[in-house]
Amino acid sequence: SQPALPLHAAPTPTPTPTPPTAHTSPLVAPSAGPSSTPSILGLDALFTNPVFAGGIGLAGLGAAAAFGRRALISGAALLRRQLLVNVEISKRDPSYSWVLAWLAQPRDNRGLLARRLTRLRNLSVVTSTKSLSPRGVAASDGGVGGGTGGGGGGGKIHADFRVQPGFGRHVVRHAPGVYIAVNREKAGTATTATGEPHETLTLTLLWMHRHVLADVFTQAHALAQSFQEGKTVVYTARKMEWAVLGKPRLKRPLGSVILNEGVAEGLVADVKEFLKAQQWGYLLYGPPGTGKTSFIQALAGELDYSVAMINLSEMGMTDDLLSQLLTQLPEKSILLLEDVDAALVNRRQRDPDGYSGRTVTASGLLNALDGLAAGEDRIAFLTTNHIDKLDPALIRPGRVDMMVRIGDATRYQAAQMWDRYYGDIDQDHSGRERFLERLDELGLFGGDAQNPNVPKRHTSTAAIQGLFQLNKGDMEGAIKMADGLIPRTFEP
Ligand code: ADP
Repeated sequence: SQPALPLHAAPTPTPTPTPPTAHTSPLVAPSAGPSSTPSILGLDALFTNPVFAGGIGLAGLGAAAAFGRRALISGAALLRRQLLVNVEISKRDPSYSWVLAWLAQPRDNRGLLARRLTRLRNLSVVTSTKSLSPRGVAASDGGVGGGTGGGGGGGKIHADFRVQPGFGRHVVRHAPGVYIAVNREKAGTATTATGEPHETLTLTLLWMHRHVLADVFTQAHALAQSFQEGKTVVYTARKMEWAVLGKPRLKRPLGSVILNEGVAEGLVADVKEFLKAQQWGYLLYGPPGTGKTSFIQALAGELDYSVAMINLSEMGMTDDLLSQLLTQLPEKSILLLEDVDAALVNRRQRDPDGYSGRTVTASGLLNALDGLAAGEDRIAFLTTNHIDKLDPALIRPGRVDMMVRIGDATRYQAAQMWDRYYGDIDQDHSGRERFLERLDELGLFGGDAQNPNVPKRHTSTAAIQGLFQLNKGDMEGAIKMADGLIPRTFEP
C-alpha cells in the first residue's frame, strides 16, 4: 500500500522547526497500530505510548505552522517582488505635493470593502497663512505722501487649512477593484534644504494595475493646476530653495495697475515679443510705491507665469545662494530681483574690512545673472529705487535689455485711478476735475502754473491709492483729504 504521509504526522523527535527534508524522512511512521517488526531502539513502544504520540503530533503541528509561516513570508515577498509595483516619490519632487493633495480628495466610497479601505484615517493638516503682501509694507515706507500706502491687507492674516494624508500606511480605492497602498514616511534623519525632515511617499499597486499610475499622476497634476487656475504663484527663497509664498493669489488684473499713458500696454506687448526673441530682462526703476512690483505681478497673471522673487537687500542673501537659486528657477516664471542697488551699496560698505559673506556683492550679482540663460519660459525683471547707484555693468545689453522708468503719479494716472474708484458715482467727472485741481494747487504735478510760490511736489500712486482706499465710496472725503498726499515734515 502507498504510504500516506500527512504533513501533520511528521514525527521528528525535536520540536524545533525542521528542514523540509524531514518531512520525507523514513522515520515517518505509518499512521498507527503496533508494528510487527521488532526494533532495537524500542521505537515501537514509544509510538504506541499515547502520551508520546500526542507529543509528536503537536511537535509536528508546530513545525508545520513554522514552515507554513515561513512559506507565507517568502511567498509574500515573492509576490511583492513579482506582482506588485512600488513607486517612491521624494519630497523634493514637485509631484510629491500634487499626489498628496490628490490622495486627500474625497472619493467615491461604494461597497463595504471599499468603504473600509478607502477612508483615510490618519490625516494631517497643513496650514498656510497669508499675511499682508510683502510689498504692502514696503509701499508704506515709501513715505512719499500721506495716506496708508499699500492696500496689502492692513495687517490681517488669512489662514487656509488643507487636509492631507498623515504619516503611515493608507489604502485608497482608485477604481472598482483597483487599490493603491500608500505609505508616507519620514526618510531617516535626512533633512531638506529648508531644514524639514525629508519624506517619501510610496505607492504600491498590483503589477497588472501599473497602467493606473499614469492616471494618478495625470489627475494629481491636473488637480494641482486647477488650484492655480486664475492665480499667480509666487516663490521666494527659503534657505537654499524656492518655496511657494502663501497660497497662489488671484491674478491681478493688468487694468488695476495704472502706469503712465501707454507704458503698461507697451511693456506687455514688448515682453511678449521678448519671450519669443529669448531676450533676457528689464529694469524698472523709479521711486517706491509707483507700481513696479504690482505691475510685474499683473504681468505674470497676464502671461500665466509664476513669480520667483528675491529681495537683494534681505539679510542672509549671499552670492552663493543667489547663484544657486538662479540655476534652479521654477519653470515658466518671471524672476523678480528687487532692490538690485543693494548689491552695490553692500560692496561699498564692505570694502574696508573685506568680504563679509552676508550679502550679495555687485560682482556676485553679475555672475549669477550671466549664468542665467535666456529661454522661452523665463524673463527677468530687476527693480530699483536708485538707478544712480547701480553698477553700470549691470545695465549693459545682454544683461538688461530695456530700462523703463516708472515715476511718481502723473495727472493722467491720478485721473485713471479716480475713475477706477469713483467712476460710477462721478458720472459727469465733476468730482474728478475738482480733485485734479486740488492736486494742481498742491503742486503735485510739477508746481502750480498760476502760483509760482507753490513748490514742485510729487506723490506716489501708492499714496493716491491709499487715499482712495481710506475714502471708499466717498469722493468728497478724498478731495478733502488730498493734502495728505504731500509729504509732511516733522518739526520738533
Ligand atoms: P513699487 O514696487 O514701485 O515700490 P508697489 O507695486 O509695491 O510699488 O505698490 C505698492 C502699493 O501701491 C500696491 O498695493 C499697489 O496696489 C499700489 N500701487 C502703487 N502704484 C500703483 C499703480 N500705478 N497703480 C495701481 N496701484 C498702485
